[in-house]
Amino acid sequence: MRLTDTLRLAGQLARTRWLLRFRDRAAFEAWQQRQVQRFLDTHLPRSPYYRSYAGQALSALPIVDKQTMLAHFDGMNTAGITLDEATQAGLAAETARDFTPQLRGITVGLSSGTSGTRGVFLVSPGERARWAGIMMARALPRKLMRQLLAGNRPVKVAFFLRANSNLYTTLKSRRVDFRFYDLVQGVDCHLAGLIAQQPDLLVAPARILGRLAELALDGVLPIRPERVISVAEVLEPDDKARIEQAFGQQVHQLYQCTEGFLAYTCDAGVLHLNEEFVHVEPEWLDEDKTRFTPIITDFSRTTQLIVRYRLGDVLRLRSTPCGCGAAGSAIEAIEGRCDDVLWLHSAQDASPAPLFPDMVRQAVASAPATLPDYRIEQRGMTWRIAVADEEDASCAELTAALRRLTARHQLTPPIFERMPFSETDAHVKRRRIRCVQRPTTGQEATHA
Ligand SMILES: [Zn+2]
Repeated sequence: MRLTDTLRLAGQLARTRWLLRFRDRAAFEAWQQRQVQRFLDTHLPRSPYYRSYAGQALSALPIVDKQTMLAHFDGMNTAGITLDEATQAGLAAETARDFTPQLRGITVGLSSGTSGTRGVFLVSPGERARWAGIMMARALPRKLMRQLLAGNRPVKVAFFLRANSNLYTTLKSRRVDFRFYDLVQGVDCHLAGLIAQQPDLLVAPARILGRLAELALDGVLPIRPERVISVAEVLEPDDKARIEQAFGQQVHQLYQCTEGFLAYTCDAGVLHLNEEFVHVEPEWLDEDKTRFTPIITDFSRTTQLIVRYRLGDVLRLRSTPCGCGAAGSAIEAIEGRCDDVLWLHSAQDASPAPLFPDMVRQAVASAPATLPDYRIEQRGMTWRIAVADEEDASCAELTAALRRLTARHQLTPPIFERMPFSETDAHVKRRRIRCVQRPTTGQEATHA
């Protein structure tokens, strides 16, 4: 890393960790408003797609989604990189499992594409350095931060993901021993390396942490990380419990996706939106205004412009504020994708009613028997269900839990159908609950 980038990293780390403090939410919002406007004024004129919007307020700009972003990729970045070039570079890197190549000095990465289409991201060296500073400020507990600053022993980071990136390896330095464990090779082949490394910080998708926790509880994975961080997947209650039991601490989360770094767990253990860098407009999904899908504007990124981007995830606000003093709104949970929401009809008036993923998870978690891994897939009024142990008793328990859920919400129950269970590969995002097809309005359930 060049000296200027090292200074950027250190500067952003200090700013994020110690300087960005606000006396109240109103003061924070006023500050954020100025940052956003300055970002729009400076960077929109540099992008062919947004040039004609220069000088306008955020609310006047179009809301875009992944499809729009890919369709106008060439015009939405300020580096003159086309989607074709970026995709080719990204795919070549993934095939070779060599994540270092760049395109004219810009790092290119691909998202895993759980929702069908792959996302593409671009970051400049300066953005990488700043990102690394923000990430370290958010991820390191006090003890590891002291260790980083003292510099006499490197902070050891173990990072499990399906693809590495120059973005992540920016964290690597004399002070950070950053190791990437490639999930394309599975989990078990990495155990010896992980034991040898003895990471201070263990970062992995929730399900992989669940597997590592299982091994630790079995006594075959003697590691004692200072902090455990779940990324890239919904943190399911059974994995969460197992991880906390195995490593004796609360599991933290970093909500980082192609489109930006959106949320993190604070030292008090509460998820906060990373609003010091990303402006979040909630698009409410329920009448009580507790669940929303975020429309984000990342005013820290200037190579690829993320402006009023609808993310398609379901977030739930926390009803009580966090006392830690962070400016970002407190979030109860990242529940999953909007298409993880299941839909049924009200038993009274047949109006469509959502069952949000956490409602389903809670119903399963509160079943009298401990259930194995499962899948629920909605196709119209049919819910296809699978259980990992393929036992009839588990399937009956799961069905009963779901029936209680629909009854409690006074919904017309679906038709349950059994399907075979298939394990999700280590490098693929697990989605337990999925709505493949919503029921058509007015469609009546017929009981099998
Ligand atoms: Zn907090």
